[in-house]
Amino acid sequence: MKFCSECAYPVVLQIPEGDNRPRYVCAQCETIHYHNPKLVVGSIPVWDEDGRIRVLLCKRAIEPRHGFWTLPAGFMENNETTAEAAVRETEEEAGADIEIGELFSLLNVAQVHQVHLFYLARLRSLDFKAGIESLDVQLFAEHEIPWEDLAFPTIRKTLELFFADCVQIKESGAGFGFHTHDITHPMRIASLPKDS
Ligand code: ZN
Repeated sequence: MKFCSECAYPVVLQIPEGDNRPRYVCAQCETIHYHNPKLVVGSIPVWDEDGRIRVLLCKRAIEPRHGFWTLPAGFMENNETTAEAAVRETEEEAGADIEIGELFSLLNVAQVHQVHLFYLARLRSLDFKAGIESLDVQLFAEHEIPWEDLAFPTIRKTLELFFADCVQIKESGAGFGFHTHDITHPMRIASLPKDS
């Protein structure tokens, strides 16, 4: 940042007294401007037809990653809960009505100052359509997922974890787990090794 959002005076980067890292500090009103990670929240909208699991993905109509596929997700707003954010983003991007379930994945993307959260969700109907930020919205079975055309590593990781849990559930009858993962190469998207 260049200017103080309180008084419009230029800011300087310095370590405030009692702190241990540089902050933007206003030289006039002395406001310290803290920059902290943002939450990106989304859902895994599932359509289960007698055990044939399909997941709803959106093709992005906006940068970054225009034309690539993503789970419905976006920046959390003030005055909403994480679950409300997931429902809102799913409605906005996919025109889909979901019943929100348990939190499924938490992914740290420390290098870009973000934390991504994805909730399990059940589609209430097949009535969905691309919102203004999407070019297309479609259901995909695991073998139909456009793995090489996914928008972000957090989407790929969450889908891998989701379908791995589906296999476990079929084999052992266990439920979905909660998964945490750190993305260490946020810009490496296509040709990502399956386990990174
Ligand atoms: Zn100021």
